[in-house]
Amino acid sequence: MDVSTILDPLNGPQREAVSCDKKSVLVLAGAGSGKTRVLVHRIAWLLLVKQVSPASIMAVTFTNKAAKEMRGRISELLQITPQGMWVGTFHGLAHRLLKSHWQDAGLTENFQILDSEDQLRMVKRLIKEHDLDESRFAPKSLQWYINGHKDEGRRAKHVDHHNDAYEKTMVQLYLAYEQACNRSGQVDFGELLLRAHELWLNKPAILNHYQQRFQHLLVDEFQDTNTIQYAWLRVLAGNNNNITVVGDDDQSIYGWRGAKIENIQQFSDDFAATEVIKLEQNYRSTGCILDAANSVIANNPARLGKNLWTDDEEGEPIALYAGFNEQDEARFVVERIEHHVSDDLLLSEQAILYRSNAQSRVLEEELIRSGIAYRIYGGQRFYDRLEIKNVVAYLRLAYGHDDDAAFERVINTPTRGIGNKTVETIRLRARTDNTSLWRACEALLAESGLTRRALTAVQGFMALIDDCDEACQRLSLEAAAEYVLEASDLLAFHGKESGEKGRARVENLQELLNATRQFEPDTDEPSPLRAFLDTAALDAGDQQADEYTDAVQLMTLHSAKGLEFPVVYLAGVEENLFPHKMSLEEPGRLEEERRLCYVGITRAMSRLYLSYAETRRWYGQESYNTVSRFVREIPAKCLKEVRINANISRPLSAKISHASDGHDTGLLLGQRVMHSVFGQGLVLNIEGQGSNARIQVNFDDEGSKWLVAAYANLEAV
Ligand code: ATP
Ligand code: MG
Repeated sequence: MDVSTILDPLNGPQREAVSCDKKSVLVLAGAGSGKTRVLVHRIAWLLLVKQVSPASIMAVTFTNKAAKEMRGRISELLQITPQGMWVGTFHGLAHRLLKSHWQDAGLTENFQILDSEDQLRMVKRLIKEHDLDESRFAPKSLQWYINGHKDEGRRAKHVDHHNDAYEKTMVQLYLAYEQACNRSGQVDFGELLLRAHELWLNKPAILNHYQQRFQHLLVDEFQDTNTIQYAWLRVLAGNNNNITVVGDDDQSIYGWRGAKIENIQQFSDDFAATEVIKLEQNYRSTGCILDAANSVIANNPARLGKNLWTDDEEGEPIALYAGFNEQDEARFVVERIEHHVSDDLLLSEQAILYRSNAQSRVLEEELIRSGIAYRIYGGQRFYDRLEIKNVVAYLRLAYGHDDDAAFERVINTPTRGIGNKTVETIRLRARTDNTSLWRACEALLAESGLTRRALTAVQGFMALIDDCDEACQRLSLEAAAEYVLEASDLLAFHGKESGEKGRARVENLQELLNATRQFEPDTDEPSPLRAFLDTAALDAGDQQADEYTDAVQLMTLHSAKGLEFPVVYLAGVEENLFPHKMSLEEPGRLEEERRLCYVGITRAMSRLYLSYAETRRWYGQESYNTVSRFVREIPAKCLKEVRINANISRPLSAKISHASDGHDTGLLLGQRVMHSVFGQGLVLNIEGQGSNARIQVNFDDEGSKWLVAAYANLEAV
């Protein structure tokens, strides 16, 4: 084994970065320029050439998966597996540290990690214990508040409430939360980082030990570190250790969660004599894809600025597809996937990326229908998501009152004052009588077998379920689902959650309404609700491909960071969806959306597809969005619009199963038509029957219009 194995597969600046003898090295470079590769080779270099002990190396990656990959690549290069290295995420490393020093960190020996659902439950309990109103002190907002302060390194005692009454209460709650966690030996994600930082500050002997040990620190995706992570690193590195960080200011996409691009600037200031190395050659993407990425990101002001070029060929132009709705968009994507498979690509070499989680449903359905295995990376499938499970549980309970699992799930969700003790009494009764929880409630009510308060609450809950049942029998599936969302208060409940997550949940709930609206049972089950619930249960079942099956990868743009795929589909490139509507209202957010777009485009190696829908059910409404401004920022020479039919070999009409199909206008959705005044256009929508039928057409020149079918004299072309 000699040095050439490590340096030969690198270009000049990469070699310089790998073998640099400076104490602090900052590699600042664009996507796909080999930053992660430099880190891996630098570790190998340290081990092989500098003969440092693996135990003196700590490498920080962005995900656990990336950590695993990094270890694998190092072993491959060295042909041995080095022992004693610490490679992991900030959270993982902090956890490891705290486990070894629980006493010094003021923790209990078997402290538990509180995941964010547990945290929410805890916060909720505290709000109640303080007799506060959840509509004013929303649990989600408090959770967001606590985590935000922790990410900035502030405990409750550090927060200045400026004598503001609301803020004072929040600080009080934060303090109560800290105490409750300490009492029960629980540690949330932010706490891991904060404690680990405090361990450095409070226990110099321990810090000293680790400073002596970890003489080489290496950090990937440095642009997305937050304040506390940076502070932790800074202290560990001290004045004597070696630290190499790699990052790209253009790929900073976690500002909304406290990440600080400024840390890049800070780094050169804090670590004297930093060697700054820029990598400019991209090895991942074709010329076209790179041009597009460079042009889009050029629209952001205040960049550190860098050139990125490739000597790869131009490659195929980026394909842009305008679906007439989201189903059509999904069909296009799936058709292209099948095409590439027939062209000898694996499914796992293709990835579908999207801005919002809720977009996955339509794509998932189309993949299922076509029998294509898929995996959702770093997220849950639609029907597995908490908020969706909640509504589905209400529907199930309304349909069959004896469904105990559904009962358990929603008896106190949203909270309605039915505590654990009451639920325990109900369970016990059900066990004794050998009946369902619902029947047990009926028995308890009849005998007044609960406290007065519990009786009222349980009675209220049962009445609610009966109302939902009645609505399900009386209304269409969609209207019934809407009724349940409102009556159960789930929409408001999840809507109160703050931040990106709350928005995602509401989007998902609205998406469920879309699902019910578009639902067409393919069995002859007489109850559409029953058929829908069965479908949802099956979808939530085991269709997700396991780790060993070849499967298409689906993920949000945020989860795609650092990854690469031969073929990438970027779905939903339309205004309001991407850039997300919210980003237009907050300063600085549009730039972050653009960086997210840059991340998305640069995941693609040889083929990139962009697609959008001219009309889309979103937030429960039909929306007509124009193509994303980011697409318009791509030079025309890199883009090729693919038209309907040109790429779909199956006849469209046979594939369309839209709720408003089957009208007697003689026209079909997606069909091209001619109008004597407006010219040619595409049928987007058909409503009503016979002489009342109205047709929406998106005219090539005049845009979208509603026309009365009887007078429009549309001709198919
Ligand atoms: P990102 O910003 O997306 O995280 P990155 O800068 O970390 O990207 P890498 O993932 O390290 O880039 O590299 C991108 C691709 O280019 C990888 O497939 C890598 O193996 C390849 N690559 C990097 N440098 C070279 C090189 N000198 N020769 C050949 N291939 C290279
Ligand atoms: Mg990388």
